[in-house]
Amino acid sequence: MHVILMGPQGSGKGTQTERVRTRLNLASIATGELFRSAIKGGTGLGRQIQAVYDRGELVPDDLTVALVEERLDKLAQERSSGSTVDGVLYDGFPRTIGQADALRQALCARGEELTAVVAIDVPRERLIERLSGRRVCSTCGRVYNVVSDPPKADSICDVCGGSVIQRADDTPEAVSKRLDLYDVETAPLVDRYSNQGLVIHVDGDRPIDEVTESIVEAIQSTTGLAAASGR
Ligand code: AMP
Repeated sequence: MHVILMGPQGSGKGTQTERVRTRLNLASIATGELFRSAIKGGTGLGRQIQAVYDRGELVPDDLTVALVEERLDKLAQERSSGSTVDGVLYDGFPRTIGQADALRQALCARGEELTAVVAIDVPRERLIERLSGRRVCSTCGRVYNVVSDPPKADSICDVCGGSVIQRADDTPEAVSKRLDLYDVETAPLVDRYSNQGLVIHVDGDRPIDEVTESIVEAIQSTTGLAAASGR
C-alpha cells in the first residue's frame, strides 16, 4: 500500500511517520530527510539544493521526483531480495501538483496505486509556536521542542549524545515562507485527493500518542490491514 501523510510544516508529519511506519510495517520516503542527508554528505545534489533548502523554498520537481523514484526502485529491489514491508508511507511528498502527477505515474508504471492520504490538521498559530521552538539532533534526527520536550542536558541529544541544533529552515523568516508555500502549492493537493475520495482528516493538535492512534486507525480502516506483529 502507498499512504501519504500530508500536513503543513510543524504538523508532526516527521514524528508520526516514524511511529506509524513501525506500527504498520511500512517503509518511509521522507523527501526532507533525503535532502538533509544529501546536504550533510556534501554530494553534488547536496550543494545544488542547499541554498534553496536554507531559504525554505521548494526544491525543483525534477530533482525531487528523481530522488523518490530512486527510493522506490531500491525498495522494490529489497522486496525482491526478501524484505517484507507492507508498503510505503510518504512524508513531505508530494508537495506540488506536478509531484502528485509524477507519483501517480510512477506507481502506475509499477502496477500499484495510492491507497490513502492522511491529512494532519493543526491551526497556523500552533504551527508557528511549534516550529520556532523546534530543535533537532544533528546526528540521529531526534526532534525536540525547547518548551514542551527539551533534551535532558542542554543541546545534547538524549538518544545518541549528538548536538541538538535549530534547523536552518526553522528561522522565523523561513518558517513563515514555508507555511505560505504550503497554502499555495500543497493545500490544493488535499482538495484534489479529497475529490478522489482518498483523504482522511486527523486532528493533529492533540498529544502525540493520540494522533498516532488516529492515524493508524485511519489507515487500517481504509486497508483492513492488521497491525504489524509486536504491537
Ligand atoms: P521537511 O523536512 O519536509 O520540512 O522539508 C524541508 C525542506 O526540504 C523543504 O522546505 C524544502 O526545501 C525541501 N523539500 C522537502 N520535500 C520537498 C518536496 N516534496 N518538494 C520540494 N522540496 C522539498
